[in-house]
Amino acid sequence: MTSTRERCALTDCEWCERDDLRCRFCEGVGWWRPEKPRRDGCGVIDWIRVEEPCRMCAGTGKEHNPLVTASENGAGTG
Ligand SMILES: [Zn+2]
Ligand SMILES: [Zn+2]
Repeated sequence: MTSTRERCALTDCEWCERDDLRCRFCEGVGWWRPEKPRRDGCGVIDWIRVEEPCRMCAGTGKEHNPLVTASENGAGTG
C-alpha cells in the first residue's frame, strides 16, 4: 500500500494547507506509475512501469500547480 505524504518540502505551503484541490496528475493519490524505457543488452528498448511519488504534488496528492497565468520555471529542488 502507498499513502500520501502530509506535506511537501515547503515549510509554509499554501497548497498543503488546503484539502479542496486534488492533484490532477495523480488524482490525489500522491503516486503515479509512469512507464520508463529500459534498454536491454541487445539495445532493445523495453518499457517498464515504475511507481514513484508524484512530482507535481511532492507525493501529497494535493494540487500544487493549478493552471495559472504566470509561467514559472521550476528550479530543480534536488
Ligand atoms: Zn505543499
Ligand atoms: Zn500528484
